[in-house]
Amino acid sequence: MEIIIGSHVSFNSKEQLIASVKEALSYGANTFMFYTGAPQNTKRCEIDENLTKEAKKLLEENHINIENIIVHAPYIINLANPTNYDFSTEFLEEEIKRCESLGMKYLVLHPGSHVGLGEEQGIKNIIKALNKVINENTNVYVCLETMAGKGTEIGKNFDELKQIIDGVKCSEKIKICMDTCHLNDSGYNIKDIDLLLSLFDEKIGLNKLACIHINDSKNIIGSHKDRHENFGFGEIGFNTLIKYINHPKLKGIPKILETPYIKDDSNPKKTYPPYKFEIEMIKQNKFNENLIEDIKNYYK
Ligand code: FE
Ligand code: FE
Ligand code: ZN
Repeated sequence: MEIIIGSHVSFNSKEQLIASVKEALSYGANTFMFYTGAPQNTKRCEIDENLTKEAKKLLEENHINIENIIVHAPYIINLANPTNYDFSTEFLEEEIKRCESLGMKYLVLHPGSHVGLGEEQGIKNIIKALNKVINENTNVYVCLETMAGKGTEIGKNFDELKQIIDGVKCSEKIKICMDTCHLNDSGYNIKDIDLLLSLFDEKIGLNKLACIHINDSKNIIGSHKDRHENFGFGEIGFNTLIKYINHPKLKGIPKILETPYIKDDSNPKKTYPPYKFEIEMIKQNKFNENLIEDIKNYYK
């Protein structure tokens, strides 16, 4: 069974998608996820048709299926609280257009934080915003991410996500992105994969699952912290995470690493991407306890 594995990669204004493809290939990945600019801001460049064409050629040459590539919306968009409502919905509309012109099918979105309004009102606001932005002609699936429940985050359980889906008129355009770190931190026992998947199937439906962020967690179950750890080096552990990679029910679903960069011993400002080595370990199906050292030795 071929696994579809990749990581978060960068997208820059100069080379745009070409840079993302090259970075993914350097990690031995067969998919990837990118933000159309910096994750933490909404400064975005115009999508260049020629660069996109060239990037698509590169994808084809390397047998990367464009339908497995994921875009992540910046996390400052907050549809749950109306303070920046017009800005957030307008930005999301633009982001969907950017995805469409890049030929991307899946846009991951954090549902938002209610910031004191309460879950019920927050969910109402999210539904209202999604109904404003998504219609029959939308050519992108908006994938709501399962959240850790940090602060007042919405989407910390399957019920909240289901309520959002049910409120959206074009709900066929809404899908889900699971994040293993967030599920753990929000209180799901992700070690029991079959139970978790059947729970998800019952509440939302496995057909709605579009993507998995395959991260370990620095914290124990139910901590509501959202701090990612390298694959196999956190509280979730290799044996559980690898089950999500290989589970037959998750076959064909892109798995994306958002694990932290490794700090150089002598200069903590210097960091190295762990993805080439994590992907290699995942393909080998065997835990490498020297992974962090191997990464440092390779890049230094
Ligand atoms: Fe995310
Ligand atoms: Fe994530
Ligand atoms: Zn996270």
